[in-house]
Amino acid sequence: MNKIRNIGVLTSGGDAPGMNAVIRAVVRTGYYYQYNVLGIYRGYEGMINGEIEKINPRDVSGILQDGGTILKTARSTRFLDIEQKKRAYEICRVFGIDAVVVIGGDGSYRGALDFSKVGMPVICIPGTIDNDIGSTEYTIGYDTALNTVMDSIDKVRDTAYSHERCTVIEVMGRDSGYIAVNDGIAGGADVILIPEADFDIDADVIKPILECRNRGKKDYCVIVAEGVGKATQICDEITRKTGIISRATILGYVQRGGSPTAYDRIMASRMGAKAVELINEGKLNRVVSLINNKVTDLDLEEALSMTKSINLEMLKLAKIISI
Ligand code: ATP
Repeated sequence: MNKIRNIGVLTSGGDAPGMNAVIRAVVRTGYYYQYNVLGIYRGYEGMINGEIEKINPRDVSGILQDGGTILKTARSTRFLDIEQKKRAYEICRVFGIDAVVVIGGDGSYRGALDFSKVGMPVICIPGTIDNDIGSTEYTIGYDTALNTVMDSIDKVRDTAYSHERCTVIEVMGRDSGYIAVNDGIAGGADVILIPEADFDIDADVIKPILECRNRGKKDYCVIVAEGVGKATQICDEITRKTGIISRATILGYVQRGGSPTAYDRIMASRMGAKAVELINEGKLNRVVSLINNKVTDLDLEEALSMTKSINLEMLKLAKIISI
């Protein structure tokens, strides 16, 4: 028999647009299936501190369209310690929490797996702008970030066009080039540099820019994922080796903010509801995933062993269509 009555929900790791829409869906689907939902503030850190309170369906009114997370988020080094996980478990039990829904990236998934091993059932939902979780085709926040970055590229390119310069734009992605590749294509970049593909500055940056110039281009756009190196250094190299005036723009945290797109709101709503449905079906220690465009679930441990690779053909496509 399913003994779960009270569900905790938290957001962890980097914030992502659409996290609020997930919280709303969890709270309201929880209410629909007659569970109490308790918000845990500041991720695992707040859980250890007992920063927990009940959230009612009306408490999540008007947050669907808001970026960030009303529950706040944190990276907790304390939670890496087994004693702190046991403490967090005891605190959850004091509040009556029987299962926890974790919204975050793969680091948060690992924390959830460890937490399940001290006895707390968990469900994970992918929430990160990086789209870098192996077990799912989509992570909440990615579409909004893609659109934010695309808007910024468009704006920076206006000035590069007017001044006939090269613009080098650094986007988020320490280990993953999803934003760089797809925004490179959406923003019409001449060169895209991502952590998944080695590059040589002369062959892969300078040569294509010079070829573009020979074909009559007067402004150029290079997109750099942050994991590859500093945009400012690449910019200096371009200026030094080609004589083309170059300017670096580091988009930074603007990429994490903003109102979620329709796609993120819909995906967040579907995945948030799915998490509660899984609990209701007694399916625990699962992750919610998008697979073949269907919202489904996988075993958490199995999910953490999965990897996905970026389609490197996209880099070739970007090269061809920027001729
Ligand atoms: P993002 O992709 O946006 O960075 P994330 O969830 O991967 O999000 P992390 O900082 O890696 O972000 O992880 C969030 C939190 O999860 C950490 O601060 C820590 O508390 C917990 N965590 C991460 N890795 C582990 C681990 N191996 N074991 C236990 N807990 C972990």
